[in-house]
Amino acid sequence: MDDDKSKFRILIAEDDLVSRMMLSSAIKKWGYEPIAVDNGKDALKILTSPSPPLLAILDWVMPEMDGIDIIRTLSKNKESIPTYIIMLTTKSEKEDVIEGLEAGADDYIRKPFDTDELWARIRVGIRTATLQKELMETQKALEYEAIHDPLTGCLNRRGILERLNEELERSVRTGEQLCVAMCDLDHFKKVNDTYGHQTGDDVLKGFVQIIRAQLRPYDQIGRLGGEEFLIIIPNITDSYAQNKLERLNKIVQDNEIKTGTGKIKITVSIGGIIVNQKTDIDTTIRQVDNALYTAKEKGRNQVCFYGVIKNG
Ligand code: GH3
Ligand code: MG
Ligand code: MG
Ligand code: MG
Repeated sequence: MDDDKSKFRILIAEDDLVSRMMLSSAIKKWGYEPIAVDNGKDALKILTSPSPPLLAILDWVMPEMDGIDIIRTLSKNKESIPTYIIMLTTKSEKEDVIEGLEAGADDYIRKPFDTDELWARIRVGIRTATLQKELMETQKALEYEAIHDPLTGCLNRRGILERLNEELERSVRTGEQLCVAMCDLDHFKKVNDTYGHQTGDDVLKGFVQIIRAQLRPYDQIGRLGGEEFLIIIPNITDSYAQNKLERLNKIVQDNEIKTGTGKIKITVSIGGIIVNQKTDIDTTIRQVDNALYTAKEKGRNQVCFYGVIKNG
């Protein structure tokens, strides 16, 4: 933690020059990096920047925007890592302090401040802010892991099915056509049997890379399990969707995949549909699975595409 000290930035927003200088030099002396501003507007700009300081000392009364307004504005944004806020106030009345804390301040110090007390409170703030940041990062990492496949890096079964649900709802709302495709690598067992499981894994990774390079940012690929993947292509016409799937099929066939045991060629069978409006996720999966089955049955390494189909 000591090595990181200078990287720990502390925002000081205080319009009184003497007080601002004192705070800045004290924070520097303790080994942290002070960022000093003399008005509320600049303070808010820094606190809402992409990587805001984790701790801020805000004066209660300042030009442009006072401390309490900053806190109220910040507390509306629940997404970002919260900054630990110490209010600085000459107003010693109980009501003001309560108002500050209720608005979302974490602590307060009365001016003129005692340096030892300030130091003690800042340490508590740093500890709390650091812990909170770690907690939020852990939570974000867990949320990411819950919907991603560790081998290929694409969405996992849960992640892609969640997306499918969202896209089905969206297509009903917007009236846009949605293409859903299921892919299954052909004779993949043979790859494992011939080159080993590790090479099989490399092939799965390479396959996802090839497909991803062809998708638009709002298209999605997810691994349903084993060597089976689901692709979601929103806002697309029948003929363009079919074309796109044909192209994916051909690109997989034409690209060798680099593996630990050399380059390997694979092929993929694809079943694709344009989903019917108001269809549910189970029906969609069943229809797309049928299309894939047909592609396999007809000899693999091909696309079986159904345009808009009736419910049932
Ligand atoms: P088909 O053309 O009919 O799809 O034949 P296939 O061999 O691809 O299908 P099959 O279902 O018989 O075999 C799928 C194989 O995928 C069997 C399994 O060992 C392999 N597999 C599933 N998950 C993984 C994985 O994570 N890594 C590796 N290397 N292989 C996997
Ligand atoms: Mg002031
Ligand atoms: Mg297969
Ligand atoms: Mg399979």
